[in-house]
Amino acid sequence: MKKNENPAYPRTYELWYTYSAGYNRELNQALNAALDRHGTIDAALLDRFYDEFVSPLNLSDRLGDVSDQMSVEINELIRRIEESTGTVGEYGKELSDAANTLSSDSSVEQTRSVVARVLTATRAMEDRNCNLEEQLRTSRQQIAELQDNLEAVRTETITDVLTGLANRRHFDQALERLISSERHEENPLCLIMCDIDHFKRFNDTYGHQTGDQVLKLVGATLKQSVKGRDVASRYGGEEFAIILPQTDYDSACVVAEQIRAAIMKKELVKRSTGENLGRITMSFGIAMMNVSDTPDSMISRADAALYKSKRNGRNRVTGEDALTDEDVQAVA
Ligand code: GH3
Ligand code: MG
Ligand code: MG
Repeated sequence: MKKNENPAYPRTYELWYTYSAGYNRELNQALNAALDRHGTIDAALLDRFYDEFVSPLNLSDRLGDVSDQMSVEINELIRRIEESTGTVGEYGKELSDAANTLSSDSSVEQTRSVVARVLTATRAMEDRNCNLEEQLRTSRQQIAELQDNLEAVRTETITDVLTGLANRRHFDQALERLISSERHEENPLCLIMCDIDHFKRFNDTYGHQTGDQVLKLVGATLKQSVKGRDVASRYGGEEFAIILPQTDYDSACVVAEQIRAAIMKKELVKRSTGENLGRITMSFGIAMMNVSDTPDSMISRADAALYKSKRNGRNRVTGEDALTDEDVQAVA
C-alpha cells in the first residue's frame, strides 16, 4: 500500500489483504499483470480491481465491519508510531541541549541539574517505549483476529448453510476457474450433476424439515466422496454438482457410481420418532471437458445426461457418451 501510495481506505486494506492471502486467483493474476505493466497500482486501478474482483464477494455487512476495524486499528498504530517518533525527536533535543549546557567549567550544581533533566527525559522515553511495545503487541493480536474474521466471513459467503457444501456462487466461480486452469495444464476435467429422485413425494409425505435432514445427509455423503481439489456443491434445491479436476471420464463414472451406491445404502430413520422412512436414490449425469467447452456448455451436457438417467428409470449414472442428438434437444 505504501509503495503504491494507495489511500488508507478500508477497501485498500481489503484488496491487498485478499491479494496476499492468495485465495482470489483472478485478482492476483490481474494485479501481477498490472504491476508488470505499470510498476505500481494507482488509486484508479485499485478501484477498478476492487469492483471487478473483490466487491462481488462482499455480500455481508460484517465484511465491511472487519475492514473498518482494520482501518481504525492501523490508523491508531500510525498515530502511536508518529507520537513515538515525535518523542524521540524531543529526547534528542533534550540530550543535545544538555551537551551544549555542559562545559569544562560547569559548576557541580549546573552539572547536577543537567544530569537530573537527562534522567527524567530518559525515564519518560522508556515509559513511552514500553507503552508503544504493549500497543504493538495488542494491535498485532487484534489484526490477527480480524484476519480470522475475514476468513470466516469469506467461508460463509461461499458455503451453503444447510449442507455445508460449496454454494452455487462458489460453484460458478470454481467451474470457470478450473476449466481455464485445467485446459491450460492439459488436464482432463469432469462435471457430475445429480438430483434426488422423487424428492417432492418425500417432502410431501414426511414434511419439509425431514426433507432438509435428507439434504444434509446427501451433503455429508458427497463431501466424503470427494477429495483434494474436487468441488462438491449444492447447485440448487435438491440438485448437486461436483467438479472433478485432473479426472478422466472413466474415473468420474466410478466416483458417481460410488456416490449413487452410498446414498442408496442409507436407511433413513426419523430421529425424533424412530420411524423408518425407507431410502432415497439419486440420478447422475456426467460431462467431460472438450476443447471448446464453456461452463454453460459443460453444465448443459451433464444436465442432459442427468435428464436421461431420470427418463430411463432414475437411480442411475449416465455419461455424455450415451447422449443422442435427441437427448440434447430434449433438454434445450
Ligand atoms: P425427480 O425424480 O424428477 O427429480 O422428482 P422430484 O420430485 O425430485 O423433482 P421436482 O423438481 O418435482 O421436485 C423437487 C422438490 O425438491 C421440490 C421440493 O419439495 C424439494 N426441495 C427443493 N429444495 C428443498 C429444500 O431446500 N428443502 C426441502 N426439504 N425440500 C426441497
Ligand atoms: Mg429431484
Ligand atoms: Mg430437481
